[in-house]
Amino acid sequence: MSYYLRQSRQNFWLGRFSSFPEDIVQHAISTKLGGVSKPPFDSLNLALHVGDNPQDVLINRKRFAASLDLNAEDIVTPNQVHGDRVLKVDESHKGRGFLNYDDAIKETDALITNTPDLPLMLCFADCVPILFVDVDNAAIGIAHAGWKGTMLKIAAKTLMAMTDEFGTDPAKCLAGIAPSIGSCCYEVGENVVEACEKAFPRHADKLIIKRNGKIFIDLWQANLIQLIESGMSEDNIDVARECTCCKSAWYFSYRAARTAGKPETGRIAALISLKSNPDF
Ligand SMILES: [Zn+2]
Repeated sequence: MSYYLRQSRQNFWLGRFSSFPEDIVQHAISTKLGGVSKPPFDSLNLALHVGDNPQDVLINRKRFAASLDLNAEDIVTPNQVHGDRVLKVDESHKGRGFLNYDDAIKETDALITNTPDLPLMLCFADCVPILFVDVDNAAIGIAHAGWKGTMLKIAAKTLMAMTDEFGTDPAKCLAGIAPSIGSCCYEVGENVVEACEKAFPRHADKLIIKRNGKIFIDLWQANLIQLIESGMSEDNIDVARECTCCKSAWYFSYRAARTAGKPETGRIAALISLKSNPDF
């Protein structure tokens, strides 16, 4: 298992999990390189809600879709609010939120589907993307977990929703925890520490790290723990272990931008889609 970057069409660098079977799913984590957005959104900003010029974002989104051989009009991307709502989507949601933010599905931070050719996309700048593949039942999921979503256990709830809707067996499900802020850089305040102690009473000492009078949280481990506690095998969870703040030359990082005195930045995207005709 590993996470790696591969150069694609349109000269984009896209991240992938080696454990996800390419004959079943198409997936990618975008980087910030190769787009048309101007500073501070330079350059492959894929989010419409951050104050960037919408025309630039649409060019970026269409190029991103093309780099994956996907039809831009099919991609579903919701309005993310750091909550724990998981929504099952189907044909009827096709294209919602991709070309027009106004028609995005409201207040949803995780999507699941068993509809082929319905790409699911979420946007990130340090928060943790978690992608799911259930090969046996041909179903997928994707979740957005910042500290709030992680403490609300949205990753575990996404897996649970896949079990309810598609019969996913957690023990056989594959997951990928994509690049996001690591415990090297994610300094937090007392409110996050309290939420972590409450959400992970048995593991708080592992997740809360004290260094040089500062407190850091390990979101990768917190998401890994909740998936293992939900019945997943650690062998089936691919953790990229790439920090978006350390690697802010590659990825948008809200924390890196803020540290540099810039209150705004772009968003990378994580996308996953079931293939309609798996090439067996
Ligand atoms: Zn870091």
